[in-house]
Amino acid sequence: MEHEFDAIIVGAGMGGLCAAAYLVAGGMRVAVVEKSPHLGGRCSHRAREDCLVTTGALMIPMGPSSAIRQAFDALGVDMDMINLTGKMRYRLAHGDYDISPKGGGLLGMIEFAMQDPAAAAQFHQRIIDALTTWTPLGSITILDWFDQYTDCQEVKNLFQGYCAALMGVNMHEIPASEFFNFLKYHSKGSQFGMARLGNAQLMGALASAIEARGSRVMTRSPCRKIHVESNRVTGVEIKNAAGDAEKLAAPLVLSNAGPRRTIALAGGGSVFEASYMAKFEQDDIDAPIMHASFVLNEPVMADFAGCMVFGNTTNLIYLEIPSAISPDISPEGIYLHTAFGAPADAAKPELDREFEMMLSELEANFPGILDKAKFLVKAKHRGDSPGMHRWVGRGMPVNTSVLGLYNVGDGCAPVGTIGTESAAASGREAARMILG
Ligand SMILES: Cc1cc2nc3c(=O)[nH]c(=O)nc-3n(C[C@H](O)[C@H](O)[C@H](O)COP(=O)(O)OP(=O)(O)OC[C@H]3O[C@@H](n4cnc5c(N)ncnc54)[C@H](O)[C@@H]3O)c2cc1C
Repeated sequence: MEHEFDAIIVGAGMGGLCAAAYLVAGGMRVAVVEKSPHLGGRCSHRAREDCLVTTGALMIPMGPSSAIRQAFDALGVDMDMINLTGKMRYRLAHGDYDISPKGGGLLGMIEFAMQDPAAAAQFHQRIIDALTTWTPLGSITILDWFDQYTDCQEVKNLFQGYCAALMGVNMHEIPASEFFNFLKYHSKGSQFGMARLGNAQLMGALASAIEARGSRVMTRSPCRKIHVESNRVTGVEIKNAAGDAEKLAAPLVLSNAGPRRTIALAGGGSVFEASYMAKFEQDDIDAPIMHASFVLNEPVMADFAGCMVFGNTTNLIYLEIPSAISPDISPEGIYLHTAFGAPADAAKPELDREFEMMLSELEANFPGILDKAKFLVKAKHRGDSPGMHRWVGRGMPVNTSVLGLYNVGDGCAPVGTIGTESAAASGREAARMILG
């Protein structure tokens, strides 16, 4: 049977648009259907009082090995980024540590935290051993792994900040093996940065290139159903921009709506094979995150334009000053600040209380800030729009037991990836399975 499209992609987040880019580069004609009027999902920006405020992600991988960069390259799209690789500042109770632009960041961080070069060298060697010879087995968390080799609380505080900020959950929740997989993935020449004109511009550029190759990207077009017949996907039903139900037939559907919603759209758990559903239910737990964006008349740190990670707090995890990085983000003389927080226990978040705690920790670190700040966004992300749909190491496979139905997005993160990179990498993996 002839179809108008080779594949339908449900959702225009990082996962959906990157999957589309890879398939289009492979010669396919696709339709991306997006329920909202905006592109990019949790990797987008909205205008708030003349500032561009993120819907989620700020720090975006951009090096040659990144699945995001490769998706843009596949269609010849420029990524308009400001490179922030290495611009990391870690705050501990005894001071701040800036990653050296010359490298040696890991040892430097450990030395700064431990304040004892010999003990730091020994502990650093344990990490190198785990990266090169013996990866710990899945049953042990990274906190348990640290406890075997050091009593130093400050080094644990530093890596707690690192895990919560960069990996989305806490040290006592991350399997040690996943921590080392993440370090390995990110040691291969990885680079990150911020979109100079905001993520919406970035994702819009990718969508335009997809359309320029004869495929379609339709906003305001929610998918209501994924059609499955005899365990094979046959297309989707959308509500089109005119408000009418419309069927789009295709032999392939890639859903960027998150594994939970994908199962519901396809008709529920009985449509899938039992072991697929068992895996889904076993680890169906998202990683919440809190976000506060506010403006000040001056930056809280005049000497630093990068990502500050906190190892001296419980809920505040990192802070950026997007205006200090890109002058295109806010009007002159107005400084947009973006703070992120994570629950102390991602499995039992108390987001109302913990959001207030995040604000008090901001005040404790920058006295007077709350009196001067004008808040543009106070958001608590969980459920359908979490920090990540599933915890690191607990992602679903990209393919499903229904033939032709795939999941893309951060709910099916390939090994070593998280956040926007995991969404793009899942799109790359799905496209390889399909095209390969
Ligand atoms: C506050 C916050 C801060 C973050 N910071 C970072 C960071 O600095 N760096 C980083 O790498 N990651 C960060 N992340 C994580 C990152 O934003 C996400 O992992 C990534 O953007 C997820 O992309 P996705 O494609 O999986 O999903 P989404 O971005 O959620 O995209 C899914 C899309 O599908 C659409 N959709 C859903 N259902 C339907 C339907 N039925 N029909 C049609 N369309 C549908 C949605 O509207 C959405 O556009 C952060 C997340 C948050 C919330």
